[in-house]
Amino acid sequence: MLSTGTRPGPDLTAIFDQISAIGSQPGEGVTRLAASAEDGVARRAFAEWMAQGGARVTHDAVGNQFACFEWAGQNAPWIFAGSHLDTQPRGGRFDGTLGVLAAGSVALDLHEEVRTGQFKPGRNLAILNWTNEEGARFQPSLTGSAVFSGALSLHEALGLRDGSATSLRDALAAIGIDGDSGAVPPRPEAYVELHVEQGRKLIEAGRQTGIVEGTWAARKITVRWIGRAAHTGPTPMSDRRDALLAAAQGIAAFETLIAARHHHLQRSAARIVIEPNSPNVVVERASVWFELRGPDIEELHTAGQVALAAFEKAAADTGTRLEVVADTLRAPASMDRRLLEIVDSAAQACGFVPLMMRSVAGHDAVALQNSGIPSALLFIPSVGGIAHHPDEFTEQEDVEAGVTVLKAALRRLVEGEYDAGR
Ligand SMILES: [Zn+2]
Repeated sequence: MLSTGTRPGPDLTAIFDQISAIGSQPGEGVTRLAASAEDGVARRAFAEWMAQGGARVTHDAVGNQFACFEWAGQNAPWIFAGSHLDTQPRGGRFDGTLGVLAAGSVALDLHEEVRTGQFKPGRNLAILNWTNEEGARFQPSLTGSAVFSGALSLHEALGLRDGSATSLRDALAAIGIDGDSGAVPPRPEAYVELHVEQGRKLIEAGRQTGIVEGTWAARKITVRWIGRAAHTGPTPMSDRRDALLAAAQGIAAFETLIAARHHHLQRSAARIVIEPNSPNVVVERASVWFELRGPDIEELHTAGQVALAAFEKAAADTGTRLEVVADTLRAPASMDRRLLEIVDSAAQACGFVPLMMRSVAGHDAVALQNSGIPSALLFIPSVGGIAHHPDEFTEQEDVEAGVTVLKAALRRLVEGEYDAGR
């Protein structure tokens, strides 16, 4: 139904089901962390599917996979499309995976037209699976796209360590990715990503497609309270310097103050690591990962200062010491205007009226756009806005709408429409 039926290999529904099963547990969603054994299996399945359809599949040193269709010759410009196959722990099936496989399916359809002489594109096409988009296992997120676009050095990326101190370099080597496999395409003329919305705006607006004009900024602050380990029994209460108590007070103050003063920012404290984490030892070190997201950098600056002051107060009140481990600001992105117009016009020609919207979440398309690669992000609805949860779902008819628009847009791009508008 989604493919022309003439090309070899499984269609989109079949490959989506096949890859969704990798790392999935009944009722527990999908756990396919970046560079895990499950990720390795999914990567091989994707590579086989693409190779079977005529692509040359390669990867770079950070593990980004490229399924290359060299239709217009070695020196022709490239168009990229794709997303990511890694997931959050107990994540959904659609986030990322749908974007990679939908783009792969479109490429196979177009390749069939090229192979049979019905279509002669002026551009090459590569379908991308970016490494560690989610940032669940290794932080920061968007690792592969940031390395490709030059925002993060390869050395720094490969040196990232997960919670068990395994480096990304070693994790990739364990799934057979050791260095660059060669002949990786250069920076593309344009990149298009299909992704589920992970919010409710499209459903509320009654639209099947959305085009992201820009994204919110994000300020991510990781702090650590440092107290002193002591016996939880005999140590006098007045002598204790309890880092977990400090973290609890810091989290509660963050929630109250930001809600009161910056109520339209999205806020979270979603990860905590305590040491030594024994029932009989007062916590010596508590690290907490905080996030603030909003459209305006100035407001994130002010709200971040409010948060840091609250964390300092929690330290002072508990006799602990505060250390700011990381404090980063991801700038809001404006997606490429001309590319957005091409995707919009392609959608309208297929009978869709995309909603122009902003994305709160970061995506590979945003990382690329921020590093100067013209990028577009096409959204389709998420039922109930559910994301990063096993119940994440997108209706089949909305998947089909997304694939239709993606195909129309990619056809125009490989024909050279982006460059023609310069
Ligand atoms: Zn995603």
